[in-house]
Amino acid sequence: MEYPKRSYWHESADSKIEITKDRELLKGKKFDVLIIGAGLTGLTTAYLLKDSGCKIGIIDGTTIGYGVSGYTTAKITVQHSIIYSYLIENFSLKQAKQYLTANEEGLKLIKKIIEENNIQCDFKEQDAYVYASDDTELKQIKKELIAYKKLGIDGFYTEDVPIPNNALAAIGIKNQGQFNPLKYLYSLYNIVGNSESCEIYENVRALNIVPHSNYHIVETDAGVIQADKVVVASHYPFDNSFGLYFLRLYQDKSYVIAARTKDKPFDGMYINIDDPIHSMRYQFSEKENLLILSGGNHRSGEKENEEDSYEELENFLNTYFQGAEVVSKWSTQDCMTYDKVPYIGLYSKSVNNLYVATGFKKWGMTHSAASALILRDKILTIDNDFSEVFKPSRITPDPSAKEFFSSVGSIASAFLKRIAPVPGGLSSVKAGKGKIINYNGQKVGVYKNENDDYFCINPVCSHLKCSLSFNEAEKTWDCPCHGSRFDINGNILEGPAVNPLDKIHIKQH
Ligand SMILES: Cc1cc2nc3c(=O)[nH]c(=O)nc-3n(C[C@H](O)[C@H](O)[C@H](O)COP(=O)(O)OP(=O)(O)OC[C@H]3O[C@@H](n4cnc5c(N)ncnc54)[C@H](O)[C@@H]3O)c2cc1C
Repeated sequence: MEYPKRSYWHESADSKIEITKDRELLKGKKFDVLIIGAGLTGLTTAYLLKDSGCKIGIIDGTTIGYGVSGYTTAKITVQHSIIYSYLIENFSLKQAKQYLTANEEGLKLIKKIIEENNIQCDFKEQDAYVYASDDTELKQIKKELIAYKKLGIDGFYTEDVPIPNNALAAIGIKNQGQFNPLKYLYSLYNIVGNSESCEIYENVRALNIVPHSNYHIVETDAGVIQADKVVVASHYPFDNSFGLYFLRLYQDKSYVIAARTKDKPFDGMYINIDDPIHSMRYQFSEKENLLILSGGNHRSGEKENEEDSYEELENFLNTYFQGAEVVSKWSTQDCMTYDKVPYIGLYSKSVNNLYVATGFKKWGMTHSAASALILRDKILTIDNDFSEVFKPSRITPDPSAKEFFSSVGSIASAFLKRIAPVPGGLSSVKAGKGKIINYNGQKVGVYKNENDDYFCINPVCSHLKCSLSFNEAEKTWDCPCHGSRFDINGNILEGPAVNPLDKIHIKQH
């Protein structure tokens, strides 16, 4: 399958995938543990389970590296913007400590895996900083520093911030890290795939989970599988029968630029707090050092023209890194919970032995490793003293009403769009553009390429029937409700959708 946008990581990491099982062999298989999704979460979980005596199956709906983990900015840190003051205030000191410990353990695990397996992934220990761009942010970082002290985090305050966009001050945490996420992921894939206890199948999509008391049946597009325990590491949980994740998560998008700069690269990884958010760090490798700049955040599917977001980011680059040359640019989205804490643990109270890890809110490097530790412990019934705060069935102490109602608004408007009339027929579609048209009384999503070929689909998301929007920047059909994405032929690029879009045949003349 053609992926509309590749990231710098795809260009710079040699996939060297050694083990890919034939999907035809999957039908009827029985596993002790089935992991759905081979991103950082799924593969790290498999890594931790590979020597446990369990027989493990791993399936992924796409080709390895085309989930969010292949598009991230890959700062590996327990400093998740401003989080600890929020957690102490809205959860408790104990739960804030659990969140911290989980991510510290996640960071340690990644470093250990790299070291023990001698993984060449351009890992570099780096200090992480949240910087303040104005007085409001200054107050927030000072408050966060107090939270660091309460939790025993060895943080510090500095007004010596080497980034060029006039930061007032920053708070830092030492000895965090960064890497090339795909060099790491591909290595993890090969280690897991070469293990006798694991079988990995790419391009196999899970469609449905049928729970039983002692085992679960997972229906996939390559046949039915049985497993005693199932881990849903599919980024957005795709099964709507339990857990109600479609009401409890939204997706937020950001844009990333990798650029060659004229200025000397600085050390450290930086991010500010409020919009416009800009995150920056350099990626150091033998070949070259590139600035990784990210920003332009917005709720998925809400931006009319996504090209504007790239333009805003390029303006920032040209203002503060004059003479910089863009090497690669891409966008991606992550799952967000309304209370800012991921869901890691039992998928639903009503189903045994079915687990989930999601909602990393753009801090998925340490969270994916922390998830692997928590899920490993659940599966092997080992005590874990930091999992409670992430329990998916928790009652949220402070649901963010603003974000929740904004989500409800997006979903309602995407439903209303389904019944609203659309102006224009086939002739109104311009070359290189996509739009929804009226064709013989039916709504059709049409993309026309530069050769005047038409690609026509039913523009209704196969997940929960929201009206799709055409994304001009990436030539994809995107769902504003839950973030599913499809290519111009209706193939799934990203879940939670599990079925492609219906193709529609039209007469062109
Ligand atoms: C712009 C941006 C920048 C970020 N930067 C950072 C950062 O600097 N530091 C940080 O800590 N975090 C960052 N994150 C977050 C982090 O990248 C993600 O949280 C993390 O990569 C998620 O990993 P995952 O394994 O859970 O998901 P994925 O990598 O998306 O893996 C899920 C896999 O499941 C598969 N799948 C989906 N549905 C199915 C199905 N039905 N059947 C089978 N397979 C399926 C997919 O194909 C995919 O391969 C960033 C996120 C964004 C959006």
